[in-house]
Amino acid sequence: MVPSAATVFAPADAVEKALEVEDIEKLAQDLEKASPLEIMDKALEKYGNDIAIAFSGAEDVALIEYAHLTGRPFRVFSLDTGRLNPETYKFFDTVEKHYGIRIEYMFPDAVEVQALVRTKGLFSFYEDGHQECCRVRKVRPLRRALKGLRAWITGQRKDQSPGTRSEVPVVQVDPVFEGMDGGSGSLMKWNPVANVAGNDIWNFLRTMEVPVNSLHAQGYISIGCEPCTRAVLPGQHEREGRWWWEDAKAKECGLHKGNLKEENANGNVSVNGNASSDVFESQNIVNLSRAGIENLLKMEDRKDGWMVVLYSPWCPFCQAMEASFVELADKLAGSGVKVGKFRADGDQKTFVQQELQLGSFPTILFFPKHLSRPIKYPSEKRDVDSLVAFINALR
Ligand code: SF4
Repeated sequence: MVPSAATVFAPADAVEKALEVEDIEKLAQDLEKASPLEIMDKALEKYGNDIAIAFSGAEDVALIEYAHLTGRPFRVFSLDTGRLNPETYKFFDTVEKHYGIRIEYMFPDAVEVQALVRTKGLFSFYEDGHQECCRVRKVRPLRRALKGLRAWITGQRKDQSPGTRSEVPVVQVDPVFEGMDGGSGSLMKWNPVANVAGNDIWNFLRTMEVPVNSLHAQGYISIGCEPCTRAVLPGQHEREGRWWWEDAKAKECGLHKGNLKEENANGNVSVNGNASSDVFESQNIVNLSRAGIENLLKMEDRKDGWMVVLYSPWCPFCQAMEASFVELADKLAGSGVKVGKFRADGDQKTFVQQELQLGSFPTILFFPKHLSRPIKYPSEKRDVDSLVAFINALR
């Protein structure tokens, strides 16, 4: 017998979950303008022992300070991947003593780590990307930790990544992980500092005399595993300090990403089967031939400094920096610094890799007047101001 509409009920737990989702959306709206302290207090009040702070060992120590200030009991967990910096381990210890707490460390599964390392070595992530190692050392332990909770607290901020985090609400249904009740919608994610700027976090930490990871004083902003994190320069985005070699590979324009381009037998690349047009076209940019750039390399004493981009027209990163490089050339016209470009893909690639430090496209080189060897522009920031600052420091 087919039941009539009046007799069909949604399962009780589905109804409960739907209500909780609605509640959370309403709560997110209500708390959007609330202070991190108020949000933290609400989270701890609502979930008690079923919520924990995820602590990475960086400036998210602010979360622990906020939790401490609420006067409520709170839990903290951290992922010990086995590959953290010694400074981070020391910092964990300092934090435990400072707050009189025990951090609940989550470790990767020993058998999984063993299998990965025995098969692929200790640094496989430099060869085939960080996903596999992160899955074993981070994601699975995190999943285990979250399965014991109904909610977790993170240090996500909108200003950390305008592209991916600009919409972070102060509280949300976790879109990825499951909580102790299982199923989607079973875990809530609280982001008490979503609306706080990085500078304000640091002002707060200083004012409250909160201990911080000593790596920050060495130029680290984002802190992760030792082999996968490096310091960044002032003004560089913190993401530039993470998995930098993978960005470099991407800058090779994905020779494996066949949907974007095809490389023909001569090493020339076409986009969707069409001959690609050139980039960096400007009357102020000299199109260097192989002889021209070899000549630059040989000169001990040049009349002018030279800023040269090694590029390939099919590379989206080259295309993306075209406008700033053309503007730079216009700015430098007649200033004693010449701007040039050298197409370095296809047959030229081996030469530029051996002689001109090409790692990925685009590679930007400055040939100072009195130095025979060019200096490679080290940053991924390719706006005009950054490029000019580089030249001014070396000319
Ligand atoms: Fe492995 Fe690096 Fe990921 Fe750490 S950050 S888990 S070392 S790939």
